[in-house]
Amino acid sequence: MRRQNNMKTKKINKSGGFTIPSDIRREIDMDKGQAVDIEVEAGKLIISKHTPRCMFCRTIDGVVRYQNNHVCSKCIKEMGDKVDG
Ligand SMILES: [Zn+2]
Repeated sequence: MRRQNNMKTKKINKSGGFTIPSDIRREIDMDKGQAVDIEVEAGKLIISKHTPRCMFCRTIDGVVRYQNNHVCSKCIKEMGDKVDG
């Protein structure tokens, strides 16, 4: 999976940003104005296309939008159980 031959070096600009090279954006089908998710894993930055995640458990499975937040069906059920019982 990992390809060393497409490694690019970029400098971070004054506002803390940098440009993702267009060939890399094309390769992973990431376009202008698109939201991205940024994570740090083992000291490395991982940038991926934005996927809505549950605000409580961070899963991407069964996530619905509720009042500007994303919540998964499992957490909704757990909240319901707590309210009922
Ligand atoms: Zn959840």
